[in-house]
Amino acid sequence: MAVTIHPSVDGGVHAGKDDFAGGTLTCKCSDRPVKVRVGAQTAHNHVCGCSKCWKPDGATFAMIAVVSRDKVEVLENGDKLKVVDANAAIQRHACTGCGVHMYGRIEDTGHPFHGLDFVHTELSSEHGWSAPGFAAFVSSIIESGYDPSKMDAVRGRLQELGLPPYDCLSPPLMDVIATHVAKTKGTLYAG
Ligand SMILES: [Zn+2]
Ligand SMILES: [Zn+2]
Repeated sequence: MAVTIHPSVDGGVHAGKDDFAGGTLTCKCSDRPVKVRVGAQTAHNHVCGCSKCWKPDGATFAMIAVVSRDKVEVLENGDKLKVVDANAAIQRHACTGCGVHMYGRIEDTGHPFHGLDFVHTELSSEHGWSAPGFAAFVSSIIESGYDPSKMDAVRGRLQELGLPPYDCLSPPLMDVIATHVAKTKGTLYAG
């Protein structure tokens, strides 16, 4: 059986467009869908194996990117949105009708990723969003019920797709977090 990752990448990863300036995310409700405008190209797009990110039915991984929070605006039916877990670092604003997460926001100003919102660009019909570049929290798919004996096949498929698999975030993002921690502690390398 072929390993499936996510519908947006299973047929191959599509390159983004350099001059792409954003689009509108729409939830899955047929009645009064929630619409969220993302007014910029996204960064750090990746597939994610954690159990918290929203993923479409049948997908093994979620696909998620970041964008500056001031570029995210709820356009329609925002009354349907509710935060999934108010205690989580990322406040995932989900549609109460269909369950889709429209954006995740960090309110803790001390968090390394404060100022960035997390979005699923597959919810937009526009083409040109930044392509996913790696796979995060790969081992965590086991926690959602994936067969542990098939992990070599999963990691092999991710490599084949050009999505290097990591069991946390990618090295550049782990460096961002560690740099933030070092700054906070006053231990940042000063040359
Ligand atoms: Zn909905
Ligand atoms: Zn995740």
